[in-house]
Amino acid sequence: MNQKVAELLNDQINKEFYSAYLYLDIANFFSAKGLDGFANWYTIQAKEEQDHGMLFYTYLHNNSIPVELKAIAKPDKVFADLKDPLNAAFAHEQYVTELINNIYAEAQKVNDFRTLQFLDWFIKEQGEEEKNASDIVTKYELFGSDPRSLYLLDNELGARVYSAPSLVLD
Ligand code: MG
Repeated sequence: MNQKVAELLNDQINKEFYSAYLYLDIANFFSAKGLDGFANWYTIQAKEEQDHGMLFYTYLHNNSIPVELKAIAKPDKVFADLKDPLNAAFAHEQYVTELINNIYAEAQKVNDFRTLQFLDWFIKEQGEEEKNASDIVTKYELFGSDPRSLYLLDNELGARVYSAPSLVLD
């Protein structure tokens, strides 16, 4: 495998685990506010990000590329209000899309078709992640200022259940 592509894939393990940590931090924020439904949604999101990290980890191992686990940064955002973390999550997913696109572009340069096929799943996944994050921002803008509506939105987000990613690597 091309060195640059391998390095970017290895870095992505760290980025996905950082995403998990960021979402756990957001869950932590909402939990402290008594919004258990929001906390549930972001706790599940954190689990999904760990799954993503493990997919990159397994992909590298399956291709006999040594993996280096690096330090995970501290989530350093201070959330001023309930909407702040929702915007932060959306901005973060847009950033992750850029990261995935960048790996894709590097793999394309060196005709690494196997990696491109692996990344196809993540290209689609990022479309879903951005939509989910944006939908929560929209719903909060519509309903968040009314306590009764906020209660219903919290219930809706509390109904989310974890499901393993559809991409399975042997
Ligand atoms: Mg991810």
